[in-house]
Amino acid sequence: MSQNTARPVPKNSVDREAFRDMCRKFAQKEIGPRWQQADKESKFPMEFYHAACKAGLIGLHAPESLGGAGLGVTEEAISIEEQAKVNPNLAVMALIQGVAGSLLWEHGNDGHHQIAKANNAGECLLALAVTEPEAGSDVQSIKTTAKREGDQWVLDGTKSFITLAGDCDTLLVLARTDPAKGRHGMHFFAVDRRTPGVQTSQIKTYANRPLPTYRVMFNNAKVPESRRLGAGFGAIMAGFNRERVMVCARWLGHMQTTLAWALDYAKVRQQFGKPIGANQSIAFQLAQGHVDVEASRLYTYHAASRWDSGAPIQDIILDVSSAKLFVTQAVYRVTQSALHIGGGWGITEELPVMRMALDALVAPVTVGAYEIQLRVIAKQLQLPVD
Ligand SMILES: Cc1cc2nc3c(=O)[nH]c(=O)nc-3n(C[C@H](O)[C@H](O)[C@H](O)COP(=O)(O)OP(=O)(O)OC[C@H]3O[C@@H](n4cnc5c(N)ncnc54)[C@H](O)[C@@H]3O)c2cc1C
Repeated sequence: MSQNTARPVPKNSVDREAFRDMCRKFAQKEIGPRWQQADKESKFPMEFYHAACKAGLIGLHAPESLGGAGLGVTEEAISIEEQAKVNPNLAVMALIQGVAGSLLWEHGNDGHHQIAKANNAGECLLALAVTEPEAGSDVQSIKTTAKREGDQWVLDGTKSFITLAGDCDTLLVLARTDPAKGRHGMHFFAVDRRTPGVQTSQIKTYANRPLPTYRVMFNNAKVPESRRLGAGFGAIMAGFNRERVMVCARWLGHMQTTLAWALDYAKVRQQFGKPIGANQSIAFQLAQGHVDVEASRLYTYHAASRWDSGAPIQDIILDVSSAKLFVTQAVYRVTQSALHIGGGWGITEELPVMRMALDALVAPVTVGAYEIQLRVIAKQLQLPVD
């Protein structure tokens, strides 16, 4: 499907307030008791994936024939926002399943559809392997190759920052199948993680720890032709637009929890015989935080509704990138203000705010950093940037 082609609109709908309420209860029950241990151990709690599938929150956007709900990106955003209010990292699990799963059902064969079905049923966790050590923002420069040998492909190369790669069952790997064709000579492969020649090693991070990220090495890894998807670079560029909407929902959720904490603290913490929130310099930061949350909400759900309208990708890029840029800058402002308001106690383990600020540090980076969004926006404004 080209960037200029109209896309299908969601088949089903729900009562969104009731759905949000269900998501909120799910997040409190399934994320609340788990995230701290996962954060401490840098270990993904696999039972959380199973619980999300059981609650019907994986495959929200997938067709019903594959065990999905046939809903829109708006419902996915609601689910992720509510999960991120409890923990912004575990919420990303569903986000990745949505983006990787849609590659399978939009561009795959019957075998790929069965993987998507298993994913929605809680039997096959997915990871999305695009980034490489030398190819982050510049996806076109990936080096991983897939060479045809009879009815199979041989994969060689290294991927980096692949969330859940050490936990997943299947990796969706972008590789060069015809290097002479540049970005047109790339395909995705649905690779069983346990394939000989596939190795993973965790990349230790200060933040984002409940959802660990990995290096993945492919060394003469043989994958059947039937596992090759009929899509590559173009599909992931479209997928990134969808992922950016989800990322907005993630940081919108996190921002609300952080602001609520900072508001409470500013009202309760007394210095010079009055709450610190009685000082204009503190109160104004919180007032700005309120505006950031409300503007982020409008931006996020506007971008989601544009996606669900079925308009061609080309027509929604400006809205999506603008939303992603604004929301990821807003969460940075809100979490930095909250940390400042926490004072010295803010950086102790006695308050939650340092964790909140640390987790938000990744906001400007993933799925296209600030500068990449600005570049996209500038291009959409017909500016002659390269
Ligand atoms: C926690 C985490 C999870 C991730 N999960 C996944 C995953 O599951 N799958 C996956 O494939 N990838 C994943 N990524 C990778 C992520 O998408 C990349 O980190 C991101 O694309 C940026 O690439 P980079 O880190 O190599 O930074 P670089 O591309 O090296 O960028 C470094 C800096 O240079 C700036 N820059 C780059 N190009 C330009 C330019 N043209 N003009 C101006 N400034 C520029 C960037 O904005 C950034 O500030 C993850 C990353 C993190 C941190």
